[in-house]
Amino acid sequence: MIFYNPSGAPEMACDECGCRWFDRIRNACYECGAEVPAEKTAEFERALETFRQRAGGQQTQDRSSRT
Ligand SMILES: [Zn+2]
Repeated sequence: MIFYNPSGAPEMACDECGCRWFDRIRNACYECGAEVPAEKTAEFERALETFRQRAGGQQTQDRSSRT
């Protein structure tokens, strides 16, 4: 399932146990091992993309790693 945290960012949660820890390599839940269907992953990616576009230039902190 996909839910949204208080800041509006989408987060993936396991359909089976509800936990939010996923093995991104294997696309499976850390807790119960349930696999995430590709369509769920795609849906999540879309939600994330929508969120990023809405967030606009708020990610500039990431680039300020000048030494
Ligand atoms: Zn799980």
